Formats: sequence, C-alpha cells, structure tokens
Amino acid sequence: MRPTEDSYRHKGLRKKLVQAVQAKGITDERVLDAILAVPRHYFLDSAFDEVAYEDRAFPIGEGQTISQPYTVAYQSQLLETKPFMKVLEIGTGSAYQAVVLAEMGVQVYTIERQKKLFDTNKQFDLLKKYPTIKFFYGDGFEGLPTYAPFDRVLITAAAPEIPAKLVDQLKIGGMMVIPLGAGDVQQMLRLTKLDNGALKEEVFDNFSFVPMLGGRSQ
Ligand code: SAH
Repeated sequence: MRPTEDSYRHKGLRKKLVQAVQAKGITDERVLDAILAVPRHYFLDSAFDEVAYEDRAFPIGEGQTISQPYTVAYQSQLLETKPFMKVLEIGTGSAYQAVVLAEMGVQVYTIERQKKLFDTNKQFDLLKKYPTIKFFYGDGFEGLPTYAPFDRVLITAAAPEIPAKLVDQLKIGGMMVIPLGAGDVQQMLRLTKLDNGALKEEVFDNFSFVPMLGGRSQ
C-alpha cells in the first residue's frame, strides 16, 4: 500500500533531504525546489515510510529501483531545462524523476519497458496532479518519433552505447544526459547537438544505474 498523508514530519524530512543534496553540490534552485515539493514517500510502499527521505535508492519491484535523490537532482541539474521544454525520459520506473521534472515546469514524455511498472503508474493517484507528463510503454532505444524533436533527452538507466535514434530525435542545440557504460559503473555524459548535427561531449561523475535493456518486457 502507498501512503496517502503528507505530514509535517514528511515535510521536515524533505527539507533535510534538500540540505543533503545541496551539501553534495547541487545548486540549481529550481531542482532544489522540486525536491522539496515532491512527496517521495508516496512513490514507495508505506513499509519504507521511515526511510523514504534518506538519500538512497530503493527497490520498486521487477528488479528495478527508484533512483537516489542526489542522482535525480544531479541529472535534473545537468539537463539545464527551461519551463515548457519537451523532455524525453527513458526509464519511468517509479515516476519520481518524471514528477521532479514536471514540478520544474517542463513537458515530460517518459517511456518504461516493464509492463508491470507501467501499469502500476496508471493506478498512482498523485500522477493525476501532473497532466503534463505523458506515459508510454515501449523500448526507450526507439524513442518517440511521433513526438520528436525534443529539447532534452534524459536516460535513467545505464546505456551500453549512445542510442542513435535518440540523437536523431534531439533538436539542434538540444542536450542529452546519459549514464554511459555497460559495466557496473557509468560515466555521466552530457551531449549537445551542434548546428552541423555533431555532438559536443562533456564528461561528469561516475554513477551506477540498472541496465538499459532492449525490447519490451511483459
Ligand atoms: N527514473 C526512474 C529510475 C528507474 S530505474 C525513477 O525515478 O524511479 C531505470 C528504469 O529504466 C527501470 O524501470 C527499467 O525498467 C527502465 N528501462 C531499462 N531499459 C529501458 C528501455 N530500453 N526503455 C525504457 N525503459 C527502460
């Protein structure tokens, strides 16, 4: 069961979480405000109520995880979004990252390959507050050609290579944030699509994500 109450205690724990990610180097006020606004405990079973605001990843079923808040904040900061931008997210999972982006005022298109996780989000009442998030069941390697081009692409699973179709679906001047690497550790890259279509590559810190897998799973 999911919790249904956002108490003063939860709000206080959220303030502490914001301070924790700030202490780790997150400075973007829009990102920090979004972390403060989003009730992370709603994304987890009520069994996790005591720990929902620790800066850790947690299991959400199907062998997947809700990302660590620091990682969510880090990727959201690197994306350098502006309100109303179209952002494609690969790996909806718990939808926490999608909601953080929606709180920042962007239009989120998010794809999940695991049917059960996709279906779970259909029953998740909090998401009704975020009509700007569009949910898709599919293979993130394919992207969403019908809705392209995107201002930003965010990959929230470990990509073994840079997905060519997602580069195609990025606007000129657009950016992709991608944890790249097939092993246990990935390098966070930010790719910017230049006027001539080439990619400028910036390398950031190392992280550890669950793998980005091809195809859909029932
Ligand atoms: N953004 C999520 C993080 C989830 S973990 C959150 O905030 O909770 C990564 C997710 O990516 C998993 O749910 C996994 O099933 C999904 N995934 C992995 N490969 C994928 C692909 N090719 N297309 C879409 N989703 C994928």
